[in-house]
Amino acid sequence: MAKGDFHLHSTASDGRLSPTALMELAAKNGVQVLALTDHDSTEGLREAQAAADRLGLRLIPGVELSTDIPGNEVHVLGHFIDWESELFQSTVAGFREGRVGRGMEMVRKLRDLGLMIEWERVLEIAGEASVGRPHVALALKEAGYVQTIEEAFDRYIGRNGPAYAEREKLLPEQAVAFINSVGGIATMAHPNYVDDPEPIVASLKEQGLFGIETYYKDYDQALIDKMLRLAEKYDLVPMGGSDFHGLERSNEKAPGNIPYPDEAIDRFLARGDAILAARAARA
Ligand SMILES: [Zn+2]
Ligand SMILES: [Zn+2]
Repeated sequence: MAKGDFHLHSTASDGRLSPTALMELAAKNGVQVLALTDHDSTEGLREAQAAADRLGLRLIPGVELSTDIPGNEVHVLGHFIDWESELFQSTVAGFREGRVGRGMEMVRKLRDLGLMIEWERVLEIAGEASVGRPHVALALKEAGYVQTIEEAFDRYIGRNGPAYAEREKLLPEQAVAFINSVGGIATMAHPNYVDDPEPIVASLKEQGLFGIETYYKDYDQALIDKMLRLAEKYDLVPMGGSDFHGLERSNEKAPGNIPYPDEAIDRFLARGDAILAARAARA
């Protein structure tokens, strides 16, 4: 188990644990410093902070933004963001509204295919969370159209599925620039979800990318080594996160269950601490 985990989801987006339950699980696993990185939302941060304080954990504010490249998605993580700023909150509110339109479009396509799930039910499942594809998948499972969340993605709502819908486009370069503009540090999440991450990493580095997710969920040593070489070549810090959602997917790893070395964790935190010190000096 690693002492740090900087990529976690709660019910504030598409995770299945409340921020409090997530903090409790991480603490139980021996995690000491962690980030809550919900999709387009910091709604879970206050609750998570209260739980982290009680449990003696250090919580770093974070967010995960979805962006588009031709034929695929790139996710950009932002940490140490000035999340209470109006610029940050009004911009991510716009990103969330894009998700609602997308979810409705997927439900419409599913109904055209004869899978009669209700948009209202998807919203109910999402609850306070920002609605996402896992909520559509849970509605399909609940209605008996699929057995698992994975099956819902594979057969219907994955990128190549018949009910997939695009979001409004946001370029990864724009997301990196946005994270920097709200005082955060930007990292490219799960780089291996794209076929050839190097040109994207090179382009994002020019926009001020700080790191790439290297110690990720189910990455084996060969993949970790590949990401370490990429990080070194572009002078980026290797970051680690489990991307835990609590969804019982077969490749899910518990909070902290990643081979993230202390030295790399400390490099990440050192930059964040410098940012926080500079922000405090300005305030
Ligand atoms: Zn992601
Ligand atoms: Zn994630």
